[in-house]
Formats: sequence, C-alpha cells, structure tokens
Amino acid sequence: MTKKGSLTVISGFSGAGKGTIMRELLKKHPEYALSVSVTTRNPRPGEKDGVDYHFLTQQEFDRMVAEDGLLEHAGYVDHCYGTPRKYVEESIAAGKDVILEIEVQGARQIKEKCPDAIFLFVTPPSAEELHHRLTFRGTESEEVIRERMQRAAEEAGEMAWYDYLIVNDDLDEAVELVHRTIQEAKNAPRRQPEMIAEISEELKKLAADDK
Ligand code: 5GP
Repeated sequence: MTKKGSLTVISGFSGAGKGTIMRELLKKHPEYALSVSVTTRNPRPGEKDGVDYHFLTQQEFDRMVAEDGLLEHAGYVDHCYGTPRKYVEESIAAGKDVILEIEVQGARQIKEKCPDAIFLFVTPPSAEELHHRLTFRGTESEEVIRERMQRAAEEAGEMAWYDYLIVNDDLDEAVELVHRTIQEAKNAPRRQPEMIAEISEELKKLAADDK
C-alpha cells in the first residue's frame, strides 16, 4: 500500500512573498503537489488559467460549492477563493506531499477537517516592509492596497495558532526553511488521542493494582 502523503497549509499576508516562495520551492523540489485554487477574481497580467488559478464565474464557483467540490472556501477582498477537493484527496492518496496556499479563514476550515495538517504562516520581517512590498508590486490600485493592509492587520491575530512562522527576509533561506519544516513536521510524532487514552487507562489500572 502506498504511504499517504502529508498536507501543508501555507498562509501569510498578501505581499509577504508566499507566491514567490512557492514558485522557488517547486523549482527545487518538484515532488511537492501544489493545489491550484479556483477564484472569481480576474487574472492579473501574466497569470494563466489552470496554472496560477482556475478562473471561474461566480455561478461556476457557486456550483462547485453546492456540489461539495471544494475542501474549503472563503471570501477575500470582494472575491471568492476555494480549494478543489479532488486534486488534494487524490494526491494525498498517491503519497504526495500536498501544499495549499490559502488565507486564514480557509486554513481554519482545513484545521477542523484535517487536524494532522501542517500549518505555516509567512511574514515579511516587519509591517513597514509589507507595506513597501505591496506598494511596489505595482499591480494593485491604492484602494486595493489599503484593503489588503487592513486585511493583514486583521489576519495578524490569526498567526498565533499556526504551527510555524516563516520570516521571509532572504528568499533562498525561506524556501529551504519551508522544505525542511514540512519534512521534519511530517515525520515528527503527532499527538494521538487514542494512544494517549490507552496509556492513561493502563496506567490507572496498574496504579490501582499496586495499592
Ligand atoms: P491573490 O488574489 O493575491 O492571488 O490571493 C488573495 C488571497 O487568497 C491570498 O491570501 C491567497 O493565499 C488566498 N487564496 C488563494 N487561493 C485560495 C483558496 O483556494 N482558498 C482560500 N481560502 N484562500 C485562497
């Protein structure tokens, strides 16, 4: 039987460099399976349908939700985003380490459904640096930049429940850190409720016998 693959969720502020880290990670380690999300937003210049996202109409998106075709979904600055269930489930079953690059509301849904998933949060070294990166990306209007900064302030409170924080100062280091973190986390022993319950029961029995 093929050993099941792991599931990693990567979130981070818009402009933290998640996208760049993912691209570099896949260049160096093409064995990872990066899930391609669906979205109702328009493609940015250079983005390709089926590669960066599956770009859907609102109607198509709503149909996927109704048919339970999404593992999680969320609204982000006026648009909808979601993770197609099929690709993730099939890849994990085939033994692949799957990565979802999604925002925090979606990450929370994954945490509920897949408690064994590994949660990484990417942040630039400072808030000022985040603002700088958003401004200099040059693809967003001032209004969108303001909304994204506002959203980052809200998301900051959510960083706390993630398993690992990845500070994206040097790109190569951040990429290696993500890779190492996933590989170590997936092999690390996990809290196993059944095993904990079993050992506690046995200890209680033994303690009672000793009386
Ligand atoms: P962008 O419009 O900049 O590509 O993405 C906006 C935000 O949506 C980012 O934080 C990105 O991680 C998140 N996102 C992308 N795909 C998904 C998805 O499938 N589900 C959720 N919940 N968020 C997503």
